[in-house]
Amino acid sequence: MSETHILVIEDEPDLRAGIKHNLELEGFVVDSAADGREGLRKAREGRAALILLDLMLPVMPGLEVLKHLRETGRQTPIIIISAKGQDRDKVHGLELGADDYLTKPFGLSELAARIRAVLRRTQTGAKAGVGERGSASVMKFPNLVVDWRRFTIVRDGEEQQLSRYEAEILRMLVDHRGEVVSRQDLLRKVWGYVHLPTTRTVDNHIARLRKKLERDVENPVHVVTVHGLGYRFESKLLEES
Ligand code: CA
Repeated sequence: MSETHILVIEDEPDLRAGIKHNLELEGFVVDSAADGREGLRKAREGRAALILLDLMLPVMPGLEVLKHLRETGRQTPIIIISAKGQDRDKVHGLELGADDYLTKPFGLSELAARIRAVLRRTQTGAKAGVGERGSASVMKFPNLVVDWRRFTIVRDGEEQQLSRYEAEILRMLVDHRGEVVSRQDLLRKVWGYVHLPTTRTVDNHIARLRKKLERDVENPVHVVTVHGLGYRFESKLLEES
């Protein structure tokens, strides 16, 4: 059986030790860091299959660590572990590309379950190229080519990289092309849970996706807004392979 490495970035010594001990009992190999900079350094080594990230950290805050990792293209799944009352930071974290969050105090069995769920979700996505339906890996639309395996799109001859969330949102819209997909559906299917404080997270990701897809973001032709209902992918599929 191959080992799954987890990196715990948490400054409270007791909590760090408790998480480490319990995850080791669950069969994970656990490394830890007590501040943001050390955490970032260890995360960049790339051994971790998943990172648990506290937000309030000495030297470098958790959101900075997350930002650095995502901006440099590291897609290691990240679960934010935050104190109560940090809802805005949690949402910001999800927008920056975190995969899930847990509010302290949390049960250690809940933590292990979340870790497994995120690993399952992200590993299928990575292996099967989001779709996991055995469907086409390249789809061509007017002025748009989507490569699901590489998470890239080509528009006006220019290749752009999609984040995993952007790719999953686009996948869901394309799979339901011509139909309205609601924000709640996107939250449920893409993020995998329903208790997000705001659907604005969806809108922000759609805005970022549109910047890549659309020639004119003010007048989108691929992903259109259906007011009060959600979004709809409108382009005709020309070819798939
Ligand atoms: Ca802390």
